[in-house]
Amino acid sequence: MLNKEQFCKGLTEANLREALERQEFQLYYQPKLELASGTIEGVEALIRWEHPEKGLVSPAEFIPLAEETGLILPIGEWVLRTACKQNKAWQEASIPPMVMAVNLSARQLYQSNLVEKIQLILEETGLSPEYLELEITESIMMNVHHALNILKDLKRIGVQISLDDFGTGYSSLYYLKEFPIDTIKIDQRFVRNCTVDSKDATIVKAIIAMAHQLKIEVIAEGIESKEHLIFLQQNFCNKGQGYLFSKPLPPEELEQRFVEIEQITNREGIPQKVYKQKWLEEALESARQELRDTVRQQQGMIFKFTEQNGKFIHTLCDGELLYRIGLTPEHIIGRELMDFRHVRDAGTKLQYYRRAWEGEEYVTYEGELNGIWYLASLRPIRRGGQVVEVIGSCVDITERKKTEEFIRKSENLSVVGRMAAGFAHEIRNPLTSIKGFVQLLQKEVDKPLYIDTILSEIHRMEDIVGEFLTLAKPQTHQMKEIDVMILLQQVFLLFETQAIMKNIEIIQENSLDFPRIYCDENQIKQVFIHILQNALEAMPDGGTIKVQMLWHDSDSIKFRFVDQGCGISEERMKHIAEPFFSTKEKGTGLGLTISKKIVQEHGGTINIESIVNQGTTVDVILPIKHCVELEH
Ligand code: C2E
Ligand code: MG
Ligand code: MG
Repeated sequence: MLNKEQFCKGLTEANLREALERQEFQLYYQPKLELASGTIEGVEALIRWEHPEKGLVSPAEFIPLAEETGLILPIGEWVLRTACKQNKAWQEASIPPMVMAVNLSARQLYQSNLVEKIQLILEETGLSPEYLELEITESIMMNVHHALNILKDLKRIGVQISLDDFGTGYSSLYYLKEFPIDTIKIDQRFVRNCTVDSKDATIVKAIIAMAHQLKIEVIAEGIESKEHLIFLQQNFCNKGQGYLFSKPLPPEELEQRFVEIEQITNREGIPQKVYKQKWLEEALESARQELRDTVRQQQGMIFKFTEQNGKFIHTLCDGELLYRIGLTPEHIIGRELMDFRHVRDAGTKLQYYRRAWEGEEYVTYEGELNGIWYLASLRPIRRGGQVVEVIGSCVDITERKKTEEFIRKSENLSVVGRMAAGFAHEIRNPLTSIKGFVQLLQKEVDKPLYIDTILSEIHRMEDIVGEFLTLAKPQTHQMKEIDVMILLQQVFLLFETQAIMKNIEIIQENSLDFPRIYCDENQIKQVFIHILQNALEAMPDGGTIKVQMLWHDSDSIKFRFVDQGCGISEERMKHIAEPFFSTKEKGTGLGLTISKKIVQEHGGTINIESIVNQGTTVDVILPIKHCVELEH
């Protein structure tokens, strides 16, 4: 007759099938303990084969064959059902609720209806899903995408997942980050020598620290000695499992030994009181770490400083804004303002720092660094009536600053205009005389091409000077009642030749009789000329430009100019009325600004709408009678 070893070597599928039918499998349970309190918080179900002749056969002997033959599916289902039933029975016997861990082979995980099966077993046995934990190994990651979906489904029904034998397979940190794993089990191979082998010690410590950072719990397998326990407690491993506490036991035996097992940690490990203190410290440190992370992730920036030897030294600085400015905490912490800011800047900021340090509440200031504007507010922190540090918080105000700047610029346009007029007046006279001389030269030099170029450039300069002069204020408005029909006719006349040359037809549409409007004839003419000029330039291939006169409301008239030109892109549209923004290659960008200003001064508005390659519509709305006193 075969001995046990020979029997195991020659195991067949039929043997396993038989065992399943004859109900020779059993579950043993090994407790998992909370290392801080020493209480049993769960058990792991481990299968045994109680062979009638060969005795207890270890799973290492038959699980591989079961996996290979697919028999692991019925066996695994039996394990799940039995373990859940057992856990429910314990709960009903008023044993403190524990989590039942069941090992799951890759083959089981990939079976098509695993999630439904587990759900069914939970329903059947009446066990709440949070009391079932599935132990998987890294081998299930052969199809990462598929595995992830299954694990997500399992999490959805409420069971827990732990990663068994961590560190022995293809451990990828990616899994830890992406997979919904509640606990990792450090493999016994690392635990075995962690108190004698410094490399194993380092690995164990690193796994614990990393898992905690990822908010994953850690359990150590194979705790066999007091030294193991103390080492793991010192390194804040959450839970432990191993022969030191108990071997896997049949259920009745575990029940009997329950109380005794729960005393082991207290007896063998770090004394409870000391350990609790250590845990508190660790919890505090991790809370601090969390705070630091939060500070870092917040959009703004937080910093602190204290006075050391008459200097304000930064003791903290973090937040997204800091990185946006192009700095890191290392640039700031342990340093004073002078170390990272320009002397002049540092001097100004120092005054605010001092005010807060002297106890002034709500000191605020704006600053700029590397193109980023921020608003800082300082808050003195007192202890025993004394300011011990100052906390500063900053928010990004770059966008607001830009808007403000733009508004300021537009408001200052009249100032710019006056300045421009000053320059323009100065330039106009020498420009006129240069032009005169060039014209004289033209008669004497035999290279008229250059002269033409010079003259055309001078002409352009004259235009610019002219625009500057218009922009400038000191001008008198000559307001009178005007017949707009006549005014428009005069404008059209100016474009007649140009329109014929470009094959453009200007159509005027107005069926109504319009009253006269009260305006500065020349200025309004200038506005219409500008709009028509733009329309003509936008239509190099010809077409029609429609000019309509409509009632806008009972008090104002709308002049609508519709062209079929190239249009203006959305991006350009945003900037269209900004001073010095031009859609034309050689434009000064002042034309529209001036037109807008003129219309505004008449109490009206200009609206532009444009679609690229379809055309642009410009509406000029003017009141019939604008009674507001016009500024001079
Ligand atoms: P595992 O899931 O890593 O289980 C832990 C193994 O370590 C168990 O061996 C346990 O008895 C053993 N162990 C626990 N504490 C100590 C200790 O302090 N020192 C030492 N040296 N060993 C300790 P076991 O029961 O022989 O199970 C071996 C493996 O067989 C399990 O490894 C698991 O992968 C597999 N297995 C057991 N039951 C099942 C099951 O129901 N289904 C599946 N698919 N696999 C199972
Ligand atoms: Mg396991
Ligand atoms: Mg294991």
